[in-house]
Amino acid sequence: RCKQAGRSGFSFFEAGMEVAALRRAKIEDELRSALAEDRIQAHFQPLVRLEDKAVIGYEALARWCMGDGTCREPEDFITIAEEAGLISDIFYAVLRKAARAARSWPGDMKFSVNLSPVQFNDPWLVERILQILVDEGIAPGRLEIEVTENALVGDFQIARDVLWVLKKQGIHISLDDFGTGYSSLRHLSELPFETLKIDRSFISNLSSDETAQTIVRTVTSMAHSLGLSVTAEGIDSVDNAMTVTEYGCDVGQGFLFGRPEARGITGDRTEETDADNEAAVPDDPHRK
Ligand code: C2E
Ligand code: MG
Ligand code: MG
Ligand code: MG
Repeated sequence: RCKQAGRSGFSFFEAGMEVAALRRAKIEDELRSALAEDRIQAHFQPLVRLEDKAVIGYEALARWCMGDGTCREPEDFITIAEEAGLISDIFYAVLRKAARAARSWPGDMKFSVNLSPVQFNDPWLVERILQILVDEGIAPGRLEIEVTENALVGDFQIARDVLWVLKKQGIHISLDDFGTGYSSLRHLSELPFETLKIDRSFISNLSSDETAQTIVRTVTSMAHSLGLSVTAEGIDSVDNAMTVTEYGCDVGQGFLFGRPEARGITGDRTEETDADNEAAVPDDPHRK
């Protein structure tokens, strides 16, 4: 409170905190409404096999959409959702929408969904994932769950057990944003990862950054030795695509191949033309 408002910087600071807390409470309320009103959507970004540029699947990314058609991006709400206990509901909404969308894609196309570390505390996680797949009629083998290294910092045993159970059900597991968090190579080998996604911070300035080049080349070769497939994130130029292909990366993802889109899904041709599906750099970088 601002009991001694004005004079002391301390009370001024407190007032600022209160405004921030109120603002956050408001966002939480709005997020709850958005969930209740089914306004948490999945947007899809293509995953492209580098050797022949075929789209082999899509990553589903959460979007909080407003009545006017605009959507908020994850950086505006994921952390708040994690702290407010809403991240599981967001995950289930995205998973359900992605599974539903995948029904109209070719049967071998996969989709990935991001799992928050907080969700390892959800005792119903595995059952609910499997139930959603059953409800939507999607084989577990088409789903990939993406976790970041940070997911392994908390209770490693629980994370490991849950990931192994998912893997035994046929669900694929990938390690997202590799190279940005805490990673122990031992942990890597104890977990059922099939894919390692190299963070886009290593890819974005690949042509000028020799250290990044060495890292991408070495990490790719290490991953292959461990039997993992490698996805390069954040490919935004032809030059990047050529370099990571040359380094042996298997799959590419990035604005060059396609931005996250509400649709634009191969196989769902009723509402779009073939030209919309072509990998190209969209002209408006701020399109959501
Ligand atoms: P991520 O899982 O690493 O997803 C990739 C992010 O990189 C997406 O941002 C995508 O738009 C962006 N990206 C892809 N290609 C490029 C590129 O060429 N250049 C640049 N500059 N960016 C590119 P988005 O959709 O804003 O998501 C950000 C992060 O939010 C995700 O990173 C993921 O960690 C988190 N997130 C998204 N959806 C969910 C969700 O449903 N649950 C949870 N827990 N986290 C989510
Ligand atoms: Mg974004
Ligand atoms: Mg991801
Ligand atoms: Mg990533």
